[in-house]
Amino acid sequence: VSLLSETEGVACLAGGTDLMVQMRDGRRSPKALVDISALGFAGIQKENGGWSIGATTTMTELQQRIASNGPSELSLLSEAAGRLGAHQIQNRATVGGNICNASPAADTVCALLALDAEVRLVGPSKKRGVALADFLEGPGKTGILPGELLESVWVPKKERKAGDRVCEDYVKIGGRTSLVCAIASLAARTVIRGSRVISCSMALGSVAPTCMRAKACEELLQGNELTAEMVGKVGETARSEVSPIDDLRASGAYRLDVVQAMVTEHLSHCLDTIEEGGAQS
Ligand SMILES: Cc1cc2nc3c(=O)[nH]c(=O)nc-3n(C[C@H](O)[C@H](O)[C@H](O)COP(=O)(O)OP(=O)(O)OC[C@H]3O[C@@H](n4cnc5c(N)ncnc54)[C@H](O)[C@@H]3O)c2cc1C
Repeated sequence: VSLLSETEGVACLAGGTDLMVQMRDGRRSPKALVDISALGFAGIQKENGGWSIGATTTMTELQQRIASNGPSELSLLSEAAGRLGAHQIQNRATVGGNICNASPAADTVCALLALDAEVRLVGPSKKRGVALADFLEGPGKTGILPGELLESVWVPKKERKAGDRVCEDYVKIGGRTSLVCAIASLAARTVIRGSRVISCSMALGSVAPTCMRAKACEELLQGNELTAEMVGKVGETARSEVSPIDDLRASGAYRLDVVQAMVTEHLSHCLDTIEEGGAQS
């Protein structure tokens, strides 16, 4: 932190999978780099009724730790980590780098938003926590202050009653089925009691300046019976919540269709779970 706050034009380097590419392309030219990869910020720990994930945890470590003894509540995050780049990238890319690079297409950011994550920052004079949703300010822009370092990201444990069922989906649509940045993505977690939605969190990627929560969709679902009619209505609402642009990967119009399709697919999965009478717990 002292190096970051006292050195002019400094940037911190984690896995380097964004920063090195940006430096090579001339989009960033820091005068000095501080390598934070050996600071001991890696791993997943139980903390304050949730889980703290160290900023330098790589995508590979995330998947391995969650698969071996991690909580099922983090499986959405593991799924997203497994869709980020190829194995070589997953071995280097960190969760902190994915958050601080602030791409609207960032895979783990989308999942963490759906999980109501909070970022934990350490600076020259204090530590602070900020809701991830408030930390993301625009493409490549976060609320990190000069001299601050992202130390960890905290995910709260959600209480639920016995018999409640959870439907989770991470959907990533790209130009190919793998090894691509998302044209659009959805991380969704819906808790169902009987045929009613107890809670739903849906985060969308690549369809707005930052990864975003589909709040109007969530509100429509909260506490209500899930029916085929409701699925159609929420799909339509999703279109009106996003502001996708045309870019190299796809047109804004195509992205609107994709958003509606992804949301409908997730809710159809929820309907199937209701009809099957509890495939998942
Ligand atoms: C071939 C390729 C494929 C890719 N595919 C995908 C993909 O499918 N999905 C996707 O989301 N991303 C993808 N990426 C982007 C990249 O791999 C991820 O964003 C990755 O998580 C970045 O992490 P990193 O540790 O490499 O970050 P770095 O490159 O080291 O850093 C990125 C930025 O964050 C800052 N930073 C890093 N850690 C911290 C910290 N702890 N505190 C404060 N600031 C910090 C750095 O200063 C820099 O500005 C891809 C990249 C490549 C090269």
